Amino acid sequence: MTHAAGPDPVSGRPPARERRPGDGWVECACGQRHWGLHGAAGLLLVRRDADGNPVAVVLQHRATWSHHGGTWGLPGGAREPHETAAQAAVREAGEEAGIAPEDVVVRWSSVLEHPDWSYTTVVADEAQPVEPHVADPESLEVRWVPVDDVAGLPLLPAFATAWPTLRARL
Ligand SMILES: [Zn+2]
Repeated sequence: MTHAAGPDPVSGRPPARERRPGDGWVECACGQRHWGLHGAAGLLLVRRDADGNPVAVVLQHRATWSHHGGTWGLPGGAREPHETAAQAAVREAGEEAGIAPEDVVVRWSSVLEHPDWSYTTVVADEAQPVEPHVADPESLEVRWVPVDDVAGLPLLPAFATAWPTLRARL
């Protein structure tokens, strides 16, 4: 079951950009409401040292008016109808964090399946050094966070749950 997206139901603030076909809330059988009529995807961009060990990831500090505002999560958003999760994650990371598609190499993804919705974490490495920056009103800040510091931040609840497993696979 879905209904159309209007103003943000938490804040009453209008959407930050033009509405797209994938935009909208899903009333999921899990009892929660999720953003993205075709599911959602986020980019977990990893910086590695010379030995290939993960040292930092790009996180987005979410605008206070947004869903779970003020928490940290991944740049990402709703998938468009004919878009793969990887395409959606890379596109959203470009729009929200100024990360150029050619600067990342997608490695693998992890799908969280709900009865009526899914969220795909798309894990990528830098193809060349990336300096993310706030590129739209959905972010207070976007920056590299050392992997050891991630768990100490106030994380988006779903990302907090997923992080230990994701980190172990990086
Ligand atoms: Zn659900």
